[in-house]
Amino acid sequence: MRSLLWLGLFGCLKPPEAAPLPPPTPRLVVFVIVDQFPTRLLDRAKTLATGGFSRLTGPAAWQATARHQHSVTFTCPGHATLSTGTSPSAHGIPSNDWLIDGKPTYCANLDFLRTEPVADVFHEAGGSVVSLSLKDRGAILLGGHYPAAVVYFDKKAGRFTPPFENVDLSKYSTTEWVPLFPEKYAQWFPDDQAFEADPAGRGERTFPHAPLGDKFPGSFLARPEAGTALTEAAIASIDRYSLGADETPDLLTISYSEVDYIGHSFTSDSWEAVDSVLRLDQDLGLLFATLDAKIGAEKYTVVLSSDHGAAPYTSKRINQADLTTAANAALRAQGITGDVLIEDPGVWLPPSLLQEKRLDALKAVAEALEAVPGIARAVPWRDQPASDDAIDRAVRLSVDSERSGDLYLVRDPDALYNYPGAEGLGTSHGTPYDYDQLVPWLMVGAGIHGQVLSVEQDTRSIAPTIANIAGLRSPKDTPNIAVNPR
Ligand SMILES: [Zn+2]
Repeated sequence: MRSLLWLGLFGCLKPPEAAPLPPPTPRLVVFVIVDQFPTRLLDRAKTLATGGFSRLTGPAAWQATARHQHSVTFTCPGHATLSTGTSPSAHGIPSNDWLIDGKPTYCANLDFLRTEPVADVFHEAGGSVVSLSLKDRGAILLGGHYPAAVVYFDKKAGRFTPPFENVDLSKYSTTEWVPLFPEKYAQWFPDDQAFEADPAGRGERTFPHAPLGDKFPGSFLARPEAGTALTEAAIASIDRYSLGADETPDLLTISYSEVDYIGHSFTSDSWEAVDSVLRLDQDLGLLFATLDAKIGAEKYTVVLSSDHGAAPYTSKRINQADLTTAANAALRAQGITGDVLIEDPGVWLPPSLLQEKRLDALKAVAEALEAVPGIARAVPWRDQPASDDAIDRAVRLSVDSERSGDLYLVRDPDALYNYPGAEGLGTSHGTPYDYDQLVPWLMVGAGIHGQVLSVEQDTRSIAPTIANIAGLRSPKDTPNIAVNPR
């Protein structure tokens, strides 16, 4: 009725063809997060993609590189940033694990989130939210406070929780992992690299990787089949939760954790990592074909990004025990008896420390830690004014006044921690360097205009952009305006 009235009033003044059509609003936004997805891994894999990534990097796609502004490039802080459009210093998730009164605290809990997730904006407008991941921390923070479902893989039970009866996981203990394009991968690196760790603990560095057998479900998450199973659960969710069934936009988030587990063991620069992304390419191809048939290709939008990248392999390793030893020796030299507690990237001074000894102790411990080979900085962020160099800025965006340690550790660009049982093997992330901060940001579908951006974007722009594509307001706390992809 209202539109007829407006047409009656203004129809005679303006020819209808001159009025720009509003961009189409999707019935469903699918937010895909590839856990541990440095831009260099996409750049290699996309040259061989024929499925979901060929659509996400094709002529209809909006394509950019985005930077996580924080230093704490770990899964939980990264997912919270993608969820809320804010930095860890605002959203309150300063690592995967931290210490409160000396007690370990794990991040996958919405009560810790201090800023508004974009999922809550969809809920407020009447939409449904479903969030899936292989990891609990990949699903919980994206689902917001009112999800229709939060789904993740229960490693003990060997099934999703809540369960999907029609997703048969038992077959995955008997599947062999063979590479899709071995001749192409061989142009980039050899299959057998001495630094590769086998997550199944069988010493297998080369293809084919044998069926898991009794290593299922324990080692399942480091296989590309886990991503296929997650896709099956996502597809089952479309009908189960009536996603995209009406004009009110819904949100489906899917965080693919298997790429992260594979990256940690084999590094992003391995046959296994590239193959895991090309398996994901096929899985996303199947997901998109299903959405095309159920909802219509013009009625949904896909947004893809990542929680962090990863370091290229380096043999320079830091033993965490050496950090504790060096820090405690510095305390003893000050006549202090307590011990530090370290939970990467935080260092906590002993709680018994007298206030008048605090600054001297902090300075001595920082100096001792910075003398350990591989440690670039130990930043006393609470007690020292901010400087404007890039690393210090990234550290300040990473810390929470209640939850972060007294010192914040930054590694050298070419150093990694040694992990028990995998000394000198594999790789990790968690630094303010390009290889960890730079991730892809790709969008395609309803309301998206194909273009390749040359200007680096900010990952805090992704959540408000997702809201605005769906015709919704930005999450409350994001410092960034949405990018206009239309
Ligand atoms: Zn991660």
